[in-house]
Amino acid sequence: MNNITLEFYLPTKVFFGFNVVEKVGEEVQKSLGKKVLVVTGKASTRKYGLLDKITKKLAMAGVEFAIYDKVEPNPTTETVEEGAKMAQEAGCDMVLGVGGGSSIDAAKVVATLATNGGQCIDFKGEEKIKSPPLPIIAIPTTSGSGSEVTRYAVITQRKKLDKFEIVSHFICPKVALVDPKCTLTMSKELTASTGMDALTHAIEGYVSRKAQPLTDILALHAMQTVAQNLEVAVKRRDNLTARENMSLAALYGGIIINNVRTGLAHALARPLGGYFGIPHGIANAVVLPQVMRFNLSRNLKRFRDISEAFGENIEGLPMKKAAQKSVEAVTKLSRIIGIPNSLKELGVPYEAIPKLANEAFKVERLRLVNPRSFTLTDVVAVCRRCWKGDLIHES
Ligand code: ZN
Repeated sequence: MNNITLEFYLPTKVFFGFNVVEKVGEEVQKSLGKKVLVVTGKASTRKYGLLDKITKKLAMAGVEFAIYDKVEPNPTTETVEEGAKMAQEAGCDMVLGVGGGSSIDAAKVVATLATNGGQCIDFKGEEKIKSPPLPIIAIPTTSGSGSEVTRYAVITQRKKLDKFEIVSHFICPKVALVDPKCTLTMSKELTASTGMDALTHAIEGYVSRKAQPLTDILALHAMQTVAQNLEVAVKRRDNLTARENMSLAALYGGIIINNVRTGLAHALARPLGGYFGIPHGIANAVVLPQVMRFNLSRNLKRFRDISEAFGENIEGLPMKKAAQKSVEAVTKLSRIIGIPNSLKELGVPYEAIPKLANEAFKVERLRLVNPRSFTLTDVVAVCRRCWKGDLIHES
């Protein structure tokens, strides 16, 4: 008897494939939307013509629209609240998030405030939303966050330099149109950073205490896919196969974390983003090897599986050595795609470690599912290693 338990939640209707973005008008119609607020970033979707393409499809379907294009990376409470005001004033009955995780997260909270009123901070934490938001359609233009299918939105409080999370089943998008062609405009750096975010979702999800058979299948496939495609996607940006595979891995990552959460790497990425503005994927990538090393002893078999998914040769190796190969494989991939080696290299002062560790330690919902229990002292030790970027094996 394995005592298998399953609790799987995916309310989003997902369309995946080249040109699925063209379904946008039709999908808004099916959801009975009459006027859509398009929530997007400041430049790229407009610059590369995607926004035009989308609004044309909306117009062809007889759907009215307004555009709110002020979302910045790490969207702030002010931005989101301004977007919600626009949705209300323009009388929108749907929200369309177009862009990376930041735009889609902002769209989720705009949709929430438009029906619930109040401020972003009122919804901080788990299941604090009382009334259904406006229906949300998500069109990702990066392959990383998986926000197109998750119940998470991360918002930044500029004054406190704090990032907080809104977690609610209400904010899962109703429809996700995942079109790998929309990711072709990503820079090399953004491809690397978002790709490592997707990988971190798969790895933290696979070793999570809440891991379950359905997410395990997705996680192993996502890791293998990232291992085989991220380098190509970074180095040959127009390679459609690599783009397609990375979009799929990111989608899987979103489905995984929606069900099993993440872990210590994500708990650390949050203050690294809030205090130092480090992009989410870079923060994850820099801390991931040390977090894996810390967690390794609690589930050697799962870490050995990760080594295998990366195509490492583990034949004949003792379990611990085979598991350690996973850390080396992730580190190797990071180096190849140009991810910085340490927090020091990212300009994080050594003196910030206690504060960082303290913030990460406070994230209880991730602490509870991380495979190895940790104290504040443990997190400080992990942070120190991340700062130095050394790769000395834990004994
Ligand atoms: Zn993430």
